Amino acid sequence: MATLDVMDSAQDILARDEQYLIPVYARYPLVMERGEGCILFDVDGNRYLDMMGGLGVNALGHAHPRMLQTMTEQAARIVHLSPHYSNPYTSRLAQRLCALAGMHGAFFSTGGSEAVEGALKLARTHGRQLGGPRKHRLVALKGSYHGRTFGSLAVTGQENYTVDFGPGLPGVSFIERNDLEALRAAVNEETCAILLEPVLGEGGVLFCSDAFLAEARSLADRFGTLLIFDEIQCGLGRTGSWFAFQKSGIVPDILILGKPLGGGIPLSALLVGEQLFHRFGLAKHASTLGGTPLACRLGLEFLDVMEEEHVLDNVAAAALCMQSGLERIADRFPGLVVQVRGAGLMWALELSEPARPVVEEGLRRGVLFNVVQKTVLRFLPPLILSPAQVDFGLTVLEEILSDLFPHASSSSSLAHAGDESLRHSPA
Ligand code: PMP
Repeated sequence: MATLDVMDSAQDILARDEQYLIPVYARYPLVMERGEGCILFDVDGNRYLDMMGGLGVNALGHAHPRMLQTMTEQAARIVHLSPHYSNPYTSRLAQRLCALAGMHGAFFSTGGSEAVEGALKLARTHGRQLGGPRKHRLVALKGSYHGRTFGSLAVTGQENYTVDFGPGLPGVSFIERNDLEALRAAVNEETCAILLEPVLGEGGVLFCSDAFLAEARSLADRFGTLLIFDEIQCGLGRTGSWFAFQKSGIVPDILILGKPLGGGIPLSALLVGEQLFHRFGLAKHASTLGGTPLACRLGLEFLDVMEEEHVLDNVAAAALCMQSGLERIADRFPGLVVQVRGAGLMWALELSEPARPVVEEGLRRGVLFNVVQKTVLRFLPPLILSPAQVDFGLTVLEEILSDLFPHASSSSSLAHAGDESLRHSPA
């Protein structure tokens, strides 16, 4: 049985990682052993408050009792099944998601990028069926992030991720977020889809305006173009509503979900409106590991827990603490903090300085932070993070900023002490 080898020290494990894992991640020197709620424990027994939630996957924290029970119960019955056979859970999850999102049907895959690939293929076949091969163009946003597979990378508007792997897909154009003129200029009868994150996550928690989404909807209707919302990061309760698009009232033709859906077991979904239900056609798309009974039953349990444990109410309460805490920090460090932005439990604190040293110091003080775009601290904590935990995490952050940037502070004393009972210092 493959258990944690107790003879391996953290240093041994890190050295082995370095030797055998292709170095594509800027990892931190930390070896985690287990998690409980919003707390992670490393192999040396140090505890960490999780303010990044496994990049938004661990919405119900770690080892949630109901998810754990569902996982073990279903694992003992059946984990994976060829998608050619049916099971009690997959279509039930599709039905639940469609009811929540106002969509008509679902295709399940594993990771986010794979769902984006599915959406792009659907857009291309839709375009082809409507307007022939000319109708193949895609419009996406500068600064967006849709994944690392070839198709998803080709619509990711960040050159540093794409430059080494070109050429990407033909017919992709990128426009600035919220630039209505650029959007109007980019979309025409040759456009098969407009692809947007209603809130750009990896780009630094940047919001598309309602006017921009409305204009995208109206252009899509005018030109027979599909409007695709990638809510892999901002969906499923992250911004305080089930889906970020629901606040704007603008409904997409395709909605892409991922990250927390399978409770940590790979699961992503492509939801479509009625007009697209038969668009792929038989045998035109597939995913061997997509929509397994285990992943989908966990998906159903995730939705049940969200509803029955009123998780969105917690998101609303924690969001108020995040906002006031981050604004307090912004007031205290006026030259250092460029902007605070966010909703629900998806927040950014943009700094004028590189943020990685802040994250490294967070590890020493027992809080996991996350950095994107070099200078943006992004918060994607579990949706069950309590207001007291928010307070604690932000108090530690304030202390770190005060120590790392002593000249940036407009006052020397902490405005707020946080919940000291949560404090712990890693050995
Ligand atoms: N789209 C968005 C908006 C994302 O945030 C991500 C992941 N950060 C992806 C797509 C890609 O998902 P995955 O890493 O699961 O392939």
